Amino acid sequence: MKCSFCKRDIEPGRGTIHVKPDGKIIRLCSSKCSKNLTLKRKPSKLKWITKKVKKK
Ligand SMILES: [Zn+2]
Repeated sequence: MKCSFCKRDIEPGRGTIHVKPDGKIIRLCSSKCSKNLTLKRKPSKLKWITKKVKKK
């Protein structure tokens, strides 16, 4: 299971599930992702996500 926002893996039993008005189910690893999704921010523009994705 992956976070719909930051694309990181969500540990079983963790994270939150959101159901959009159109019936789409969105899984989020943390309230942080939930907040940013609500604000309609783009994951690629967030430093805390790109930092963890890029392992260089
Ligand atoms: Zn996330």
